[in-house]
Amino acid sequence: MIEDYKGILVIGEIYEGKIRPVTFQLITKARELADTLNTSLSTVLIGYNINDMAKEPIYYGADKVYVLDNKMFDPYIAEVYSAVLAKFIDQLKPEIVLIPATHTGREYGPRIAAALQTGMTADCTDLAIKNGRFIQIRPAYGGNIMGEIFTPNHRPQIATVRPNVFKARDPDTSRKGEIINSAPDLSGINIRTYIKDVVKTTVAGAKKIDEAKVIVSGGRGVGSKEGFELLKQLADLLGGAVGASRVAVDLGWMPKSAQVGQSGITVAPDLYIACGISGTIQHIVGMKDSKIIVAINKDPNAPIFNIADFGIVGDLNEVIPIFIDELKKVLNK
Ligand SMILES: Cc1cc2nc3c(=O)[nH]c(=O)nc-3n(C[C@H](O)[C@H](O)[C@H](O)COP(=O)(O)OP(=O)(O)OC[C@H]3O[C@@H](n4cnc5c(N)ncnc54)[C@H](O)[C@@H]3O)c2cc1C
Repeated sequence: MIEDYKGILVIGEIYEGKIRPVTFQLITKARELADTLNTSLSTVLIGYNINDMAKEPIYYGADKVYVLDNKMFDPYIAEVYSAVLAKFIDQLKPEIVLIPATHTGREYGPRIAAALQTGMTADCTDLAIKNGRFIQIRPAYGGNIMGEIFTPNHRPQIATVRPNVFKARDPDTSRKGEIINSAPDLSGINIRTYIKDVVKTTVAGAKKIDEAKVIVSGGRGVGSKEGFELLKQLADLLGGAVGASRVAVDLGWMPKSAQVGQSGITVAPDLYIACGISGTIQHIVGMKDSKIIVAINKDPNAPIFNIADFGIVGDLNEVIPIFIDELKKVLNK
């Protein structure tokens, strides 16, 4: 019965002993939705040795935090997470489930939906309540329209939501909530995958853009794959990552994982430096929430200047080396 399903559940994501920021972004938005629907907001954390972090979701708006703590949950295995979370959700019966659209969330989310025989809206860029209904919003038809999706007959309504589309509120450490240590139901889990070792590889210049505080991003104006080396030098000095427009990705200058924008990744760093990027709407929707936007473009009429806090009209091959020299002086490098 649809009426049996109540409240909102956010599935938290833990990585390297910390709750990832996307969890707090989703809790902040879910609090707003829960208040509009006059319902409760819970978070479930799954991992091993995670009790210390259980109070954090409360600071961002959760009423209850369920903790599923077991050695089996570290490292992450999709089969285990999806089976355990599906059973947990089946018992809790939330009306809405929000999952981070990260590599792991994108993997276990659809498996949970299949196990519960409900639908799932993947990769949402916005969520809303309209006429009392939960509306899941995401680009459709290659990003040409924004689809508004409502699930009339299935519960729970499950959505994966992109990181950085919502801003996390400032944590309120005086907020009170309930922490519930749940015994995870491990019965009947058929694990076909065992992780023997986790080997980390770092690729030069491949720092991830989704959680970077500084992003130096390049577009067609960078001119070539080699041209991105200059941007990388600047990013390295600032401790940042290198991003790209879709054109730069389509031309094979940068990997798809670096693409900022509507059909790429949404970012909200403290500093976004757009180099040789014209500023089309599809790029801007992916970076407009950056705290400070600096644009370098040789065309004074480029639309990127309309949203830039600081604009430099000039050739990026002349401007960026000046930035680099000045930064080296300031940083004594
Ligand atoms: C459905 C759909 C989804 C899309 N999704 C995305 C997306 O996710 N992300 C995205 O970025 N785009 C996306 N696009 C593409 C988008 O419409 C633009 O084509 C793209 O963003 C333009 O990239 P650009 O700014 O690098 O290139 P251009 O628009 O060609 O701009 C290049 C800029 O570089 C400047 N320039 C040239 N040489 C120099 C120099 N030496 N120094 C300084 N400036 C210089 C030029 O003045 C110009 O302003 C999408 C399009 C569609 C239809």
